[in-house]
Amino acid sequence: MTRDGSVQAIEAYLETHCGSLDGCSPYSDEVLDGFLELGPLHYFIPPSLGGRRTGAESYLNIVETTAYYSLPLGLTLGITGSLFLMPFLKHATPDLLARVIPDFLNGPALGGIMITEPTGGTDVFGLRTTIAQGDGSMTLTGRKCWGGLTGKAEHWLVAGRVVRGDRLTRSLKLLYVPRSSPGISVATTFDALGLQPIPYGETAFDDVEVPDAHNLTPKGTSVLRVMYDTLFRSRLGIAAIASGLCKRLSEEVDARAAKRVVFGGPIDRFDQVQYRLSSIRGLAQMNHCLLRFTAEWMDRHEDVSGHYVLVNAVKVVASDSMAAAADSATQLFASAAYKRNHLVGRAYVDSRPFQIFEGSNDVLHDNTFEIVAGKYGSVNSDAISQELETYGLRLPEDLPEGILAALSAAKESPQREQVQYGKIIEWIVVLAVVDHIHAKENAPVEDARRVASFHLAARLAELPYLG
Ligand SMILES: Cc1cc2nc3c(=O)[nH]c(=O)nc-3n(C[C@H](O)[C@H](O)[C@H](O)COP(=O)(O)OP(=O)(O)OC[C@H]3O[C@@H](n4cnc5c(N)ncnc54)[C@H](O)[C@@H]3O)c2cc1C
Repeated sequence: MTRDGSVQAIEAYLETHCGSLDGCSPYSDEVLDGFLELGPLHYFIPPSLGGRRTGAESYLNIVETTAYYSLPLGLTLGITGSLFLMPFLKHATPDLLARVIPDFLNGPALGGIMITEPTGGTDVFGLRTTIAQGDGSMTLTGRKCWGGLTGKAEHWLVAGRVVRGDRLTRSLKLLYVPRSSPGISVATTFDALGLQPIPYGETAFDDVEVPDAHNLTPKGTSVLRVMYDTLFRSRLGIAAIASGLCKRLSEEVDARAAKRVVFGGPIDRFDQVQYRLSSIRGLAQMNHCLLRFTAEWMDRHEDVSGHYVLVNAVKVVASDSMAAAADSATQLFASAAYKRNHLVGRAYVDSRPFQIFEGSNDVLHDNTFEIVAGKYGSVNSDAISQELETYGLRLPEDLPEGILAALSAAKESPQREQVQYGKIIEWIVVLAVVDHIHAKENAPVEDARRVASFHLAARLAELPYLG
């Protein structure tokens, strides 16, 4: 095979090494290295630094293709590309870029981000890792957990709180820390439920000396904006992983249902099976629309740290739909999927944490309500229309009956209700994206529209029963 780094070469490699449906095993170091040598990470790096990035679509397409063949490999690319390379390329000094980026251009290098600590991941102001300013360098001390590629990636972004004397301030910093720095060790390796072979664990930082030049958020920079812009871009990128996974699952269930014979005929003659097939197809169509929209959106905006509602909607719906598609595909494959070496069974386990990391979906639903209510004073149709307009989107005309009336009646209420309204707003945003991409590109969206409307109607019907 030609190692020319083209999309075709990458896809051919993935098909050879990760294409199997029922011979699916965690990728080996050798397969990973061979993949990285083909240059998938070059699509995150701009041509001025020797890469091939022409826009967000160039790297999102590679992530989508990779996730189609292997969800863990797609996530490996997402972690290194979106959570390390993108913020590093944006905020590192030219000197630091010149030292680090060649590693990603010439060798099989990996990177990641460490924010979460043993005491929790949701509350970023509760971090306990400390950064003490010295003369020309900083001292990093603390414990981080669940950093994807723990112990494997060499290049890390690590978040901590500035300490002055004995006082832990609310001021945050994001530092570039190579794993080879003295004082770093992997204290524990977790036996994670899925996503093998991505290593997870707890990393100890014992008085690690970090040069001032490794501070990616120097004085005058808003650290929260840098962190949110980084996390929000990565959340938007989940649509690419979801699109690849749902497309693969849709194709595999179609093929399976056409040839699995029950009571003398293929199972795809059953109405219920056809409904599952069209729903999974709808999730694939929907995520592809989200990918197309977010790629353009990210290119048009240097900073997406304020775009909460769009980001929340894309993240929760993409991650929920991965889990829903994997669950439904498992039902259709039935016993055949319930094996560690089956792509569908693995997808069932591997898709679950996408609803937990990069912002717990529970928390994001509530945030969606709070943001819209806080900005417009209510979450009625005018408020939603105005919010959609900020993204160049329009309120869908054929929303399920009663949705707009329910939103108009919504007020600050128990969190469980706010979460429900948040979910409704998120599905409206997604439906608006689907309509937008359909109008622009004539993309097939019939099944996606039905799935979105189903979810809207279901969330509405649940409202009186939240207890
Ligand atoms: C497979 C995997 C990969 C990961 N990769 C990384 C990584 O690369 N880097 C990294 O830094 N971290 C990573 N994480 C950690 C992840 O980001 C955290 O797990 C996540 O932020 C949630 O933090 P927590 O697990 O401590 O849950 P907690 O913060 O303890 O929250 C638990 C639950 O409490 C509820 N809750 C919390 N706050 C609220 C609220 N305000 N309102 C309502 N309900 C609330 C929600 O139901 C939430 O899910 C990963 C985790 C997993 C499982």
